Amino acid sequence: HPRVLSGMQPSADSLHLGNYLGALVNWVKVQEDFEAFYFIPDLHAITVPQDPADLTKRTRVAAAQYIAAGIDPQRSTLFVQSHIPEHTQLTWILTCITGMGEASRMTQFKDKSAREGVDASGVGLFTYPMLMAADILLYQPHGVPVGDDQRQHIELTRTLAQRFNHRYGETFVVPVGFYPETGARIYDLQEPTAKMSKSAQSPNGLINILDDPKVTAKRIKSAVTDAGTEIHYDRQNKPGVSNLLDIYAAVTDRSVDDLVTAYEGKMYGHLKVDLAEAVTERLAPIRTRALELLDDPAELDRILALGAEKARSVAAPVLDDVYKKSGFLPLA
Ligand code: ATP
Ligand code: MG
Repeated sequence: HPRVLSGMQPSADSLHLGNYLGALVNWVKVQEDFEAFYFIPDLHAITVPQDPADLTKRTRVAAAQYIAAGIDPQRSTLFVQSHIPEHTQLTWILTCITGMGEASRMTQFKDKSAREGVDASGVGLFTYPMLMAADILLYQPHGVPVGDDQRQHIELTRTLAQRFNHRYGETFVVPVGFYPETGARIYDLQEPTAKMSKSAQSPNGLINILDDPKVTAKRIKSAVTDAGTEIHYDRQNKPGVSNLLDIYAAVTDRSVDDLVTAYEGKMYGHLKVDLAEAVTERLAPIRTRALELLDDPAELDRILALGAEKARSVAAPVLDDVYKKSGFLPLA
């Protein structure tokens, strides 16, 4: 089977519906046809300050949600980035073949460093793309399923793989990005023109997998809607209602058109009540399973240890090869 690799940062106490519909659902599908590597990028998380106890907790929480959503740790390799030292080792080598100019062009660095100011940002935020390239290249995947926002980092990964291969001889598979075609893009319930995001200012616009269903229902019922009373789909003029329709369609596999017809002549309130039920129904088994897994952290850690073992058996020989080709004297 061809390989794929993907990950999402453990930067919140729960994943949200956007992470689930936009990424996890696809990962679960992909593992049918590919040998998949899914990891929790804790090393990436510390490119901005993290509370250590939170990071530990959120790493387990992320793993539990991957599994609860359908990632099968028997079939796919599920692991924590910091368990595999080869990621940091390869990062250094890739950092040394990256130009200052090309690193400086990464727009994610520009965006994220603009928040605090470049001088106040950690150097890790700058070298983040080289760590991401290492994450990918160590597993020789053919495809990397990521959001459109990662296009530039994937391009850099390809450039670095080709550069290394050219200078030192064929070593890395040059991967391609798998970008979602339609991409269930979910927006904030309170600010329906901004995407739902773990780092949102307020939690009120988020639908979190691990939240109590009552909290989720309440947030959906308080979602911002638009002027007028008619339920129809218009991203431009009715972003609130359109987002609710998109979410409804995504969690039930009904089409937006079908929903619009079904809600003709009904009020926003009807839509919200039904949507709250559909969402909580869809998330309930995932939440329950994730909480079960989190109840037994030792078992979860054991699953991750097995994943680390599998991951390392792939990553270590690749790094060995890179070290040899780089001319590092082998340890006698
Ligand atoms: P952060 O605010 O920390 O960047 P995030 O909510 O944007 O968090 P990421 O960890 O950046 O989440 O992304 C994880 C995955 O979830 C990516 O594949 C991304 O494309 C997807 N994703 C994130 N937000 C949404 C959304 N609102 N709709 C659909 N997909 C999303
Ligand atoms: Mg993001």
